[in-house]
Order: sequence, then C-alpha cells, then structure tokens
Amino acid sequence: MLVASSKPYLSFVIPAKNEEGSVQALYQEIVAAVHPLKKTYEIIFIDDGSTDSTFEKLTQLHKKDSQVKIIKFRGNLGKSAALQTGFDKASGNIVFTMDADLQDNPREILHFLEKINEGYDLVSGWKKTRHDPSVKVIPSRILNNFLTPLLTGVKLHDINCGFKAYRKEVVKTLNLYGELYRFIPVFAAKQSFRVTEIPVDHRARKHGKSKFGWERNIKGFLDLLTVVFLTGYNRRPGHFFGTFGLISFFAGFVVGLYITYLRLTTGGVQGRQPLLILGILLMIVGVQLVSTGLLAEMMLAARTKLDYTSSIERLIE
Ligand code: UDP
Ligand code: MG
Repeated sequence: MLVASSKPYLSFVIPAKNEEGSVQALYQEIVAAVHPLKKTYEIIFIDDGSTDSTFEKLTQLHKKDSQVKIIKFRGNLGKSAALQTGFDKASGNIVFTMDADLQDNPREILHFLEKINEGYDLVSGWKKTRHDPSVKVIPSRILNNFLTPLLTGVKLHDINCGFKAYRKEVVKTLNLYGELYRFIPVFAAKQSFRVTEIPVDHRARKHGKSKFGWERNIKGFLDLLTVVFLTGYNRRPGHFFGTFGLISFFAGFVVGLYITYLRLTTGGVQGRQPLLILGILLMIVGVQLVSTGLLAEMMLAARTKLDYTSSIERLIE
C-alpha cells in the first residue's frame, strides 16, 4: 500500500485551453500509466482562459479524485504563464509537463523516470515522427533544429516538445513569460543542470484544434535572441553593449583621424562629407552603447541582493 503523504512524488503540470474533448481521457491515461509505478501523484490542470466546457470537465475530475487540482485563469495568458503557475504550485520531486490534447502518450512516463533515475535533471521528449501539418513542421525545424542549437549550444532534436520531466529544482529556477517556455532546456543547461532527451510516441490531434500557427516561429525567433542575451550576458550586460560600443567608437575615431590627415596633407576634404558623417555617427553610437551597458550594470547593482541558492547542488556544513 502507498503511504499517505502530504507531498506527492510526481506532479503533472498540464496547460489546457479549449480541450474539452481531451482532458478526461488524458486523466484516465495518466492514472493508468502511473498506477503500476506505485508513486503518489498530483495532476495540476491550468485552464488558460478556455471558452468551452474544459473547466466543467476538470471540476468533474476533481470531484472524483482530490489529486486533480485546477488553476483557472480569468483570461488567456498563454502557455508560459500557465506552465509557470503550475510549476510554482507543484510540490512533487519530479515534475512532468504534458500537452492536454492527447498528442503526448502517458505510457512514456516510465521512460522519462528511467532517465531521471540515471541522474538527469531534465528529460525532454523528442517527437521523432511528428503528426502535424508540414506548414508547422518546416519552420519549426529551422528554428528549433538549426538556429537554436547554433546560437545556444543546446543540441536537442525537439526542444519545444510539451512532454518533459524535471527534477523540481529545475522548475523552481524558471521565470517564464512570453514564448520563453520553448527554451526551458536552454535555461536549464546554462545553469549546469543535466539535460537529455528520449524519443516519444506522438499522436495526431483527435479533438479540438491547434492553438498555434506558423507565425509563432517569428515570435520564436525574437525570443531566441532574448534567450541568447539572457543566458549569455545577463550577469554582465556592460560587457555585451560595451564591446560593440568600443568597436564602434574606435572605428569612428579612426575615420576622424583619416579625415584630419586628409585635411592636413591635401588641404581640403571636398566631397568627403559622407565620411565625416559616418565617423561622427560611429562615435556617437559607440558612446550610446557603452552608456546603455553602464546603465544596465547600475540597474543590476541596485537590485537588493543577488540570490544564487538555486545554483547550489549540495551544501556540506
Ligand atoms: N495552450 C494553452 N494556452 C494557449 C495555447 C495553448 O494552455 O494559449 C495549451 C493547449 O491547450 C495544449 C498545449 O498548450 O495543451 C499545446 O497547444 P497546442 O496543442 O495547440 O500546440 P501544438 O501541439 O499544435 O504545437
Ligand atoms: Mg498539440
């Protein structure tokens, strides 16, 4: 028999927007998959502003099983907000995320746990054979399989897969907004958490329709730039802006020297005004960039206190 404990071992965090056709079947499948494992669990559904009967379906589940918890947003806040709120609420040692649309197969839960037990902190699903239309798959391949590994150094086949398992320490370090949920493995890897992937079964959507189209990839690209900046330079923005600023200023200065040289040797700079403007522009931009970096550094320094506790793996006293 299971020992009753206030804290479950597994937490499932499941964002759902208009998934009335799927949530109950998903619940059944999760319970069927978890039951043989003899682990305690909680299933946290986040109703992200559904306008169908998703919430009613979820309350029926909660009435049957108190391990089902529901967070209902007043409106649609997006998947990042839904996941973040679920993570904050989750109390299990191992936290799973899944999409609510039955595309992820709960039978894989076991395989995720095996990987976690091998010592990994984040296991990402990899939809090896994807059942989505190619207008979705192609741009997502370019962004996720080419640009993201190139710019972040994190090489996963399917970084944005909704099916993932985490040790709770990982999710407690996250601060998601916008479309940043798709880069969680990058944030984790940059904090030296051990990240890996396993191939998972992916099923076609049976009920409801996808909430995302190809245009999510434009936002995704801009977010990629944010992530590169946040994970690479957030501790030292002065270095980021300063480097470009100094290069620009120095280039402008050299242009200025060249114009001065022309003036002294040939006695005139007729027809060379564009060069003068370029020189001045480069110097001004340089000063602007350096001061932007200094401002960012001042803002960082003014933060009451930096907290590195989430980065401590062990503390021996
Ligand atoms: N979702 C959400 N809020 C949104 C959009 C989507 O909570 O604003 C949920 C959705 O209900 C599903 C998951 O996020 O459980 C993934 O969405 P979807 O299946 O539409 O994305 P796709 O699989 O097509 O990439
Ligand atoms: Mg889906």
